[in-house]
Amino acid sequence: MSFMDDNGPLADAGSTLRHTLANAFRMVDLTATLNEQTPCYPTDPPFTKSWHTLHSEQGFYVSRLEMGAHSGTHVDAPLHFLGDGFPDVAQLPLQALIGDAIALESPKDPGEDLTVADLAGADIKSGDIVLFRTGWDKRSASPAFFEDEWPGLQPSLVEELIRRGVKAVGGDIASADSPAAIAAGAPSHKLAGRAGMPIFEGLINLDQVIGQRFFFIGLPLKLQGGEASPIRAVALLPNVNPPSDAPQKR
Ligand SMILES: [Zn+2]
Repeated sequence: MSFMDDNGPLADAGSTLRHTLANAFRMVDLTATLNEQTPCYPTDPPFTKSWHTLHSEQGFYVSRLEMGAHSGTHVDAPLHFLGDGFPDVAQLPLQALIGDAIALESPKDPGEDLTVADLAGADIKSGDIVLFRTGWDKRSASPAFFEDEWPGLQPSLVEELIRRGVKAVGGDIASADSPAAIAAGAPSHKLAGRAGMPIFEGLINLDQVIGQRFFFIGLPLKLQGGEASPIRAVALLPNVNPPSDAPQKR
């Protein structure tokens, strides 16, 4: 047989994989759209996209992007606040960016941090990715995302997550540290970074995955020396009502 054999075992495997991906999981996009309205940290470069070549002139489009690496939904690598000698986004292991996850509903007002108390009753397993939904996502497409005292993670919460074997952390937060904590040296970024934990920031749509375990994918560009990178973040959830044409076990 050959790879081109439509009826061979490889074709069967491909068909099964396609059915599994399409039918076994429901996908939720946890990513904010990047555009010129994407809010950016007050001292970061804003997102701009322009045409480097025009379709009307050269017959094809090529765009030029300029942006801070923390624009929109993104992941921070330990290099961000710990500096040289700590992993960049290209060095983050894939296993730390993909896997079993849980999202916790933890509403916060400006000036309120996430604390250990926000873990009450949460079914967290060693190796999980833990994501918090504070409600700050309501500001995610507006300059207000970086106004007021946004909620950060208290250092004692990061320590507790590390103690429980959590491999990555994040949420709808503007930053893992509040403005006051950043001014004091960003202790939560540093704690997570020393533990090798990626920090996912600027996630949206977490309200659609609260209260259930899911499979999280948050992959950065493989940027050498990158302290952060935009990601396309996706939640895969078990599909409770798979279509009836799903392949049967043989
Ligand atoms: Zn960041």
